[in-house]
Amino acid sequence: MIKKSVKVEYSEYETLEELDEIDNKLINKAIEIAKKSYSPYSQFPVGAAVLLDNGKIFAGNNQENIAYPSGTCAERSVLNYVHGNFPKNRIKILAVTALNTASLIPVSPCGFCRQVIVEMERLQGEPMKVILHKIGGSTFVFDAAFALLPLAFDDDILKNKE
Ligand SMILES: [Zn+2]
Repeated sequence: MIKKSVKVEYSEYETLEELDEIDNKLINKAIEIAKKSYSPYSQFPVGAAVLLDNGKIFAGNNQENIAYPSGTCAERSVLNYVHGNFPKNRIKILAVTALNTASLIPVSPCGFCRQVIVEMERLQGEPMKVILHKIGGSTFVFDAAFALLPLAFDDDILKNKE
């Protein structure tokens, strides 16, 4: 038996002034779109914004449904839209924020979203920076999305895909 461990590294920022201008722009987009979230059941609005390699920015929010599993998280709302419309473009940055949280640390993506984020990063063949922001609190920055889901489900079919 060999004992192994997984190490996850990220940077924590106390203030937004420490971050790049584009990071701030994406965080503000995520906050803006979170306010338009349809989350009457959870009262937990979440926003996500992405920067593509063509310079375009897109944003999405959580869309709930009375039939609970029918809803979609903010991250998957924007990622699925972007991947559907710009399959050849790479996602440089994903920024996520949630409103109405008591904690001063950022909310991190759910397991479903982590799997989607990691697969999109694998497909594009280059790191997707992930920014998790808490309004009035701290910001976590991951240089690559795979850190969010160590030992992610990995299908050989994906590895061999052109
Ligand atoms: Zn999610």
